[in-house]
Amino acid sequence: MKFIVFEGIDGSGLSTQSHLLKEYLLMNGKKVLLTKEPTDGLIGMLIRNTLRKRIKFDEMTLALLFAADRTDHLANIKFAHYDYVISDRYYISNFTYQSQTIDLNFLIEINRYARKPDMVLFLDVKPETCIERIIHNRDHIELYENIEQLKLVKENYLKILKSMQSENNLVVTYIKGDKSIEKVNKDIISALTEANMLENI
Ligand code: ADP
Repeated sequence: MKFIVFEGIDGSGLSTQSHLLKEYLLMNGKKVLLTKEPTDGLIGMLIRNTLRKRIKFDEMTLALLFAADRTDHLANIKFAHYDYVISDRYYISNFTYQSQTIDLNFLIEINRYARKPDMVLFLDVKPETCIERIIHNRDHIELYENIEQLKLVKENYLKILKSMQSENNLVVTYIKGDKSIEKVNKDIISALTEANMLENI
């Protein structure tokens, strides 16, 4: 079983590319679960409503809700049933966004028991491109979705990924996500092949 996580700023193509990878793996006869955070569970709903600015929690409560949503998420995944579990966002998203207001070490600590991904795919896209995609393709704008925020979030992402690579041996691959949807999908498959993540395909 391989646990693959997609990370990137909003509009970078996480949903598009995680679906395409799932299709590719299914076509190759693999058992695949595609999942996402925040989840569709009860705690995830509270977080989604906060991101959509419908309800408000203080930052610490939100950080704890994210961690609780993750334990709930993991408890409901039968990892042994699958060849691949793919998650559209995971704890790196949470560390990146919430460490703007909450101490990063505390965030890491409350996620200490969360399963470590076998590979993190970071979709690297310019914030300007992401904003254009979001404005053209969605009917609502969520919290964090403005250019200054996205620039800050991207910088923070890169910093946290780098430190988790060196201190926690997290396996991270950076994928240029500014290309066409098909090309990005091909690059992701090549990256997984190179990392020996696609056995018998
Ligand atoms: P995310 O899940 O990261 O927020 P999405 O996958 O929902 O991003 O993509 C945001 C929008 O941008 C969607 O409408 C999607 O069709 C479009 N999109 C995704 N990848 C690309 C790409 N490589 N080139 C152009 N548009 C893209």
